[in-house]
Amino acid sequence: MAEPPNWLNLDHVWLPYAQMADAPLPLPVVSASGVRLRLADGREFIDGISSWWTACHGYAHPHIVAAVQKQAAQLPHVMFAGLAHEPAYTLAARLAAKLPGDLGRVFFSESGSVSVEIALKMALQYWRNCGEPQRRGVLAFRHGYHGDTFMTMAVTDPDVGMHEAFRGIVPGALLADLPRDEASAAALDELLEREAPRLAAVIVEPLVQGAGGMRMHDAATLARLRETCDRHRLLLILDEIMTGFGRTGSLFACEQAGMVPDIVCLSKALSGGTLPLAATVAREHVFAAFLGSEFERALMHGPTFMANALACAAANASLDLFEGAPRLAQVAAIERQLARDLEPCRALPGVRDVRVKGAIGVVELDAPAAPLRAAFAERGVWLRPFGNIVYLMPPFVIDPADLDTLTAAVREVVGEWSRTGHAAKGSGDVV
Ligand SMILES: *Cc1c(COP(=O)(O)O)cnc(C)c1O
Repeated sequence: MAEPPNWLNLDHVWLPYAQMADAPLPLPVVSASGVRLRLADGREFIDGISSWWTACHGYAHPHIVAAVQKQAAQLPHVMFAGLAHEPAYTLAARLAAKLPGDLGRVFFSESGSVSVEIALKMALQYWRNCGEPQRRGVLAFRHGYHGDTFMTMAVTDPDVGMHEAFRGIVPGALLADLPRDEASAAALDELLEREAPRLAAVIVEPLVQGAGGMRMHDAATLARLRETCDRHRLLLILDEIMTGFGRTGSLFACEQAGMVPDIVCLSKALSGGTLPLAATVAREHVFAAFLGSEFERALMHGPTFMANALACAAANASLDLFEGAPRLAQVAAIERQLARDLEPCRALPGVRDVRVKGAIGVVELDAPAAPLRAAFAERGVWLRPFGNIVYLMPPFVIDPADLDTLTAAVREVVGEWSRTGHAAKGSGDVV
């Protein structure tokens, strides 16, 4: 392998979720297109995880590149208060048209965590505006992940969010098990019987809990949650940051349950994996609670770079591709191929589960999976196992041959691990 490029060292950069004392040097990427990452030494990697699940159309899609270039030359950014630009207003209207029900009021921000913070602020202030200010708590679910900022840590399962260091600062959340069956539904009802009067909202990742281990639940669970929230007069916030834009097989996961949340959070694939952008979208009855003659009823939030014009142009171009290209059919084909080609892993000693939903394929092990990272890199595939899972979330444009390369690598690496006693130990077990 060639020498690393001269800029690549760990003298000044602080890496995410990393113990810097022994952090391995990251791979230097010089360009990317389609599903391929090109490294400084000329090697090409097939990307199986779409850069934290964002690059749904692959890298450097010409339609998005052209839209961003045009926008950059014309108007990269203006403040969103007092000034308006077409890409954001068009994007808001397009999102409203695509989301189910009357989810129609779009508040833009720049990251997933912030969009969740905004959803939580909306929910709490909604009840204050409705004359029930005692409703300030939020119920979240075990294995859920909603972000790394303070309030999003509060609604993230502490075992997932690793916010032990902030105990006492992060407000304690009410955590419950998902209502997957009659028993857990009854337990949730009983909890809410007691707690609902002090709660503002319930927050959940629909169909797949992502960073908490790619745990899947069915549409009936989601539909049950909607009924439960209605029964206890709670707002239901769906965090579709990972699931939104086709990943689970429908444009939004909630469509599969035929339900409409009160507030939905979008980010990750919103701009096709190109620029930071997020949206918190509320239904009309939520929005209406903020109207009135008193200024205090208004939502007090406004990120400096909200609705950045470059990011909105990229998101509009991404939506063009969802409209003009057969993305959901591609997801369905990926789902079939993943189900068929990951299934053999199930029989391997040490493999706990194999599961697939949409363009998400998971092989769950009985031991930490992060130590397998190096073996994937040696095979020229970019995967980043975490916790005890090896997972694939490829760009939707991946062709069957490249997906074959990815699933074959998973079968080989997990097979090798299984044969050699699957005693993998190691650190770095985060997403
Ligand atoms: C990634 C993610 C977040 C946080 O988004 P950031 O942009 O990293 O702040 C929140 N919720 C879910 C479900 C996510 O996958």
